[in-house]
Amino acid sequence: MKMKSAVLRESGAPSPYEQSRPLTIETLELDPPQQGEVLIQIKAASLCHSDLSVINGSRPRPLPMALGHEASGVVVETGKGVNDFEPGDHVVCVFIPSCGQCLPCKEGRPALCENGAKSNNEGTLLTGGKRIHAEDELIHHHLGISAFSEYAVVAEQSLVKVDKDIPFEQAALFGCAVITGVGAVVNTAGINMGETVAIVGLGGVGLSALIGARASGAGKVVALDINDKKLALAQELGATETFNSAKEGVVEQIREATDGGLDYVFETAGAVPAMEVAYKITKRGGTTVTTGLPHPEHHFSFPYVSLTAEEKTLKGSYVGSCIPDRDVPRFIDLFKQERLQVDQLVTESHSVEEINKGFDKLATGESSRIIITF
Ligand SMILES: [Zn+2]
Ligand SMILES: [Zn+2]
Repeated sequence: MKMKSAVLRESGAPSPYEQSRPLTIETLELDPPQQGEVLIQIKAASLCHSDLSVINGSRPRPLPMALGHEASGVVVETGKGVNDFEPGDHVVCVFIPSCGQCLPCKEGRPALCENGAKSNNEGTLLTGGKRIHAEDELIHHHLGISAFSEYAVVAEQSLVKVDKDIPFEQAALFGCAVITGVGAVVNTAGINMGETVAIVGLGGVGLSALIGARASGAGKVVALDINDKKLALAQELGATETFNSAKEGVVEQIREATDGGLDYVFETAGAVPAMEVAYKITKRGGTTVTTGLPHPEHHFSFPYVSLTAEEKTLKGSYVGSCIPDRDVPRFIDLFKQERLQVDQLVTESHSVEEINKGFDKLATGESSRIIITF
């Protein structure tokens, strides 16, 4: 079938993207779903920093690639051997498909699925296939999905079925920003009621972590960003204190205001300066958790002795250490009860033709989450 799709053919274009137009809107051919695959109609797809990282080259991926991974849609057709989905089901896409066969999957850590990581690096579906092409040229899938498209064929392991009463624009967020941010708080860190938290970097993941920390009963929730507009939003979402992390002396100010630092500090910006601040404002005996995905050549250093003498813990959190089939429905339930108000992350929605301009707004921090609707 023919479909409209946003394709990246070359990374590293200069910004503003509204002028350099790194993503081209093309009419491509989508093959029918094969064994273990599902054809979905994309209803909403949000712009995420992981897409931006491919556009600006800090996350090198094989090109050309049809971008987009944080999405929701409706099942149109299922391939052979698919038993868990049927046409009409509402689904959320998850960006690490888990095979269920490798050791991390068997250990209950699907976010670390080895086959999922391999297929994502190679730009294929978990089944190994590529289903999008422009005549003879095969187009790579982004994170097993390629959601800035009218339709997508994905491995069934890239989908979680969700209730039909949650709007598509909101459901989309649960596949990436929400499971990554809330998951970091409840799964990776496992914070207890009353413990103190700071979030460094207030994009979709950081704001989700903030909302998750509030929902989990965190005592203090300190929010940091270099953009004052985001600090104002963090305050609306329940941050107890906010600090502009670009200002001189911010570490000392926070350590003073929090009696030596916070129990848990979440770094969600994927930037070395943010990670340095996060580690420094983690209190003695506390834990620094990062969900950041910086350029592979970026290094972060800290005084070695502090890890021992202050008994600090440094933890990575990939996809919020989530089990998508368990966590996506669980977090959606909390959303419906108005205890996880992630709908406040969405600032605007656009047509796919305006996608380059949308990435400008994401890059400058003008918007946290922009939704493309079809
Ligand atoms: Zn994402
Ligand atoms: Zn696996």
